[in-house]
Amino acid sequence: MPQQAQVLIKIIACGVCRTDLHIVDQELNAPKLPLILGHEIVGMVVKLGESVSDLKVGDLVGVPWLGYTCGKCKYCLRHQENLCENAKFTGYTLDGGYAEYTVAYARYCFPISAEYANASGAPLLCAGLIGYRSYSMLPSHAEHIGFYGFGAAAHILVQLANYQNKKVYAFTRAGDKAAQSFALQMGAVWAGSSEEQAPVKLDAAILFAAVGSLVPKALRDVDKGGTVICGGIHMSDIPSFPYSILWEERSIQSVANLTREDGQHFLALAAEAHIHTHTIPYNLEEANEALGALRKGKFEGAAVLVM
Ligand SMILES: [Zn+2]
Ligand SMILES: [Zn+2]
Repeated sequence: MPQQAQVLIKIIACGVCRTDLHIVDQELNAPKLPLILGHEIVGMVVKLGESVSDLKVGDLVGVPWLGYTCGKCKYCLRHQENLCENAKFTGYTLDGGYAEYTVAYARYCFPISAEYANASGAPLLCAGLIGYRSYSMLPSHAEHIGFYGFGAAAHILVQLANYQNKKVYAFTRAGDKAAQSFALQMGAVWAGSSEEQAPVKLDAAILFAAVGSLVPKALRDVDKGGTVICGGIHMSDIPSFPYSILWEERSIQSVANLTREDGQHFLALAAEAHIHTHTIPYNLEEANEALGALRKGKFEGAAVLVM
């Protein structure tokens, strides 16, 4: 049953994300237990908590990773609710969407269009949204952008980049021809191995892969003044590197969570740019198979549980 500020949601679909693997593998080590995973929830509101006034029964909503903020801590008060000291996270410190129903705080339920009220909308809620927060940290002049790791997030953001006349260079694991051709098919202008040098000096890079050794690699690929944005919640250690590759005002930036404003901006932009997601559907009972396939990198795009 929903508490005062929550709604009860009948789940339509829920994405399967790499962060779910980090939680299962205890690389993120403060989950609520027992826990229902899943933080890319698409569903329909079926019951309102007493104090909810801005949603109604029948509304189609998406529920993202950031599921609650306090509104009172210094971060919340300075518009950095993504860094809230008392934040709660869907499918990590709150029960998530690998289920038929869930409750969620109404403030963190984003209205979604009917077009996305199915499996195709699920990857927008994390891969898309956290990817968008990384993307929104690109310098405004950035035209040539490197994407390191080409999975669920990159395949969404490359479409937005193209819509905004930016060129994407996709770097994948050496020999991963499937991911490279997927990247080209989704709109990258170049795709190759992350061991190769970028074909042009990049204005910025976004690291979607959780591989620390890509940080110095990307620094070597970006031009003076360029930014290397780390989009993941977890990453293997970054090897030491010479100061010379950071020199000339290159910078490294990490990205944490999202704000409600990011959610509203991105979901509107996704509809405007007609972003399509490439999803692989699984039944709820097949959640473990979906996680296993993601771990092995068996598919291009995003796995989604469909209820
Ligand atoms: Zn996620
Ligand atoms: Zn707060």
